[in-house]
Amino acid sequence: MIDLINKIADSYIPSKDELIALIDSYDNPQICEYITAKAVNIRKQYYDNKVYIRGLIEISNYCKNNCYYCGIRCGNKNVNRYRLSEAEILKSCEIGYKLGFKTFVLQGGEDPICDNYIIDVVKSIRYNYPDCAITLSLGEKSYEQYLSYYEAGANRYLLRHETATLKHYEKLHPNNLSLENRMKCLDMLKDIGYQTGSGFMVGSPYQTTENLANDLLYLARLKPHMIGIGPFISHKDTPFAKFPNGDLRLTLFLISLIRIMHPSALIPSTTALRTLSKEGHLLGISAGANVIMPNLSPDDAKKNYTLYDNKVYSGNEAAIHLEELKKEIQSIGYKIVAHRGDAFNYN
Ligand code: SAH
Repeated sequence: MIDLINKIADSYIPSKDELIALIDSYDNPQICEYITAKAVNIRKQYYDNKVYIRGLIEISNYCKNNCYYCGIRCGNKNVNRYRLSEAEILKSCEIGYKLGFKTFVLQGGEDPICDNYIIDVVKSIRYNYPDCAITLSLGEKSYEQYLSYYEAGANRYLLRHETATLKHYEKLHPNNLSLENRMKCLDMLKDIGYQTGSGFMVGSPYQTTENLANDLLYLARLKPHMIGIGPFISHKDTPFAKFPNGDLRLTLFLISLIRIMHPSALIPSTTALRTLSKEGHLLGISAGANVIMPNLSPDDAKKNYTLYDNKVYSGNEAAIHLEELKKEIQSIGYKIVAHRGDAFNYN
């Protein structure tokens, strides 16, 4: 396994079987230690000890989709639905900008009525904060829609593929959604010129090691600028309420492996990691991640944007507690910087 890790670090694309064997060794302490050290080393070469921050604004929890894992699925009648106004979003940006954020991430459900609203909001942020990056994470749209957001001033788009295995995709989504369209959306986003992010959940129901290997091979082909992974966490009002949460150590192992396969990628240490463990965000950075996305949403939005149970929203994952987060990150040998943090070699 050590040889295989070294080969991957030298740009070798492993076969599916090699990946399966490697992923299955995640609980072997020697292999885990080796892959983590390798990932940290590669991360240092590309990003030194820098950690980039993004201000996450959860703009709407209306969603027309009914994904079986997600708490804000349209079938969940217990959600207090909200949609932030343009003024509320701009207020969050203002607070964030004063704190030192140079990237705003607007995330939401697939809110069906939000097209012109998105364009107007993006234009306003672009006008008020010309030095900031605008990231969108609003799900599957048409080419024309993606292009209109891009022309309004958005720079980046996050769209996890969720799982690259067709049979597994169909177990996680109702049949009006397709893996083919998800992947097509990712190709369109790259074509348009977005810095594009993809990724998947670790430990989602029915996931096998082979599914994870397929995810890594798909990412190796797609070569996204950003790769976000986080543990699946069950939500009580979904069909997957009784499924166990994803595994913390496996998630960290995969962050390290993804760092080795994508040396220059922007890899967030996600909120879901932190929901599993109080120190999850620090463990993610120590495994090879280089981005953190503190929550800039107004308090009511944070409470109602419940993708999964026990989502943390009152500690220093909140953007307003950035100073505390900076100290924590410093205590593990890294440094939060106030840069846009664009993708490496991105023109
Ligand atoms: N509507 C947007 C944003 C979705 S929320 C889109 O379709 O891309 C962002 C991510 O949260 C999803 O891509 C999914 O990977 C993750 N997520 C959703 N439910 C989750 C759960 N129960 N546990 C962990 N992550 C979850």
